[in-house]
Amino acid sequence: MNYKTVYLKKGKEESLKRFHPWIFSGAIHHCETPVDDGETVRVLSADGTFLCIGHYQRGSIAIRVLSFRDEPVDGKFWTGKLRHALELRQTLGLLGREDNDTCRLVHGEGDGLPGLVVDLYGKTAVMQAHSVGFHRSRMEVAHALLEAAGGQIENIYYKSETTLPFQSELESENGFIVGGSKENIAMEYGLKFHVDWLKGQKTGFFVDQRENRRLLEQYAAGRSVLNMFCYTGGFSFYAMRGGARLVHSVDSSAKAIELAKSNVELNFPGDKRHEAFAEDAFKYLSRMGHNYDLIILDPPAFAKHRDALRNALIGYRKLNAKAFEKIQPGGVLFTFSCSQVVTREQFRTAVFTAATLSGRNVRILHQLTQPADHPISIYHPEGEYLKGLVLYVE
Ligand code: SAH
Repeated sequence: MNYKTVYLKKGKEESLKRFHPWIFSGAIHHCETPVDDGETVRVLSADGTFLCIGHYQRGSIAIRVLSFRDEPVDGKFWTGKLRHALELRQTLGLLGREDNDTCRLVHGEGDGLPGLVVDLYGKTAVMQAHSVGFHRSRMEVAHALLEAAGGQIENIYYKSETTLPFQSELESENGFIVGGSKENIAMEYGLKFHVDWLKGQKTGFFVDQRENRRLLEQYAAGRSVLNMFCYTGGFSFYAMRGGARLVHSVDSSAKAIELAKSNVELNFPGDKRHEAFAEDAFKYLSRMGHNYDLIILDPPAFAKHRDALRNALIGYRKLNAKAFEKIQPGGVLFTFSCSQVVTREQFRTAVFTAATLSGRNVRILHQLTQPADHPISIYHPEGEYLKGLVLYVE
């Protein structure tokens, strides 16, 4: 274990004592010898006390903590961490089910592995590196994953083209690094869907809405449903199973509309209740009539950075105002924000303002969040990103 040493400035160890997993570049005093992006480093306080081991890279978050113990980060280390992550999913009852072979296996900081995301689709794991450190360690981590999973995983697809920083300097590639499979149909609570590992957003499917989709199913009977920002149509096929009268899926991406259609077809072949439209959300919401009584708004992150916050909140307000204006009396609105920089309170205020503008009586039925396989480390509150409200609109 011959890691280079990084010294922090005096007093900058405080957040690490609270187990926060990030060290910002401004906290670093100096590195013993020059450190490359993605290298594993040992971090010491100004007075030389050991603090943690982490992945170093240039940028605002300079070190992502892997361990608060002075231990080697090797194959055994990864296997231990990944076993831990798998055990949690086992505890949650998500593994080894007949009706479900999809879940998030590793959720970055939430699993003590900042910079790594792994989603499971059947026998294939899709692995995503958000840090140079994990990009460099990808083969070692992949082998540890196979070992930890003990036969449950046969293929590993590496998909980091869009998530890595300094992409151009790295040989970031998308492709199988273990095995290879043409089987790209996975199952979530008895419903099937295609996963587009190659071109899809995130790891190919939005695993994080699983429990919220299941809740939606319970509200769908007899309703006219609008699934706005449908992407692969997840909410749509749950609504159909729940007995919706009709389901309209809308997304500005023609590719997403094709995916939504094919996923609905996979579960409900020839079912005429479903139609899908490639159109901008605001245009569609403005021109549509008052014919929906169950609306889902699950837009992309309106604010990816703090400086975009103000505009994002205006966006959420406008979007929700349209829904309040158009939804039928007795309608149910599922509205979400997945912007990490928008707090639960800010999102709620934006929706509250939109409701006020409509003058309608609106009540909160459920307050939603990300599911338990996207855990939030109590020491890393930034890990909370998905917020949702289910509203009853009179
Ligand atoms: N609800 C989905 C995930 C939505 S992701 C699920 O459960 O899987 C956000 C989607 O919004 C993307 O598919 C993107 O193509 C779409 N989108 C982005 N901007 C849009 C706009 N202005 N109008 C309509 N759709 C948009």
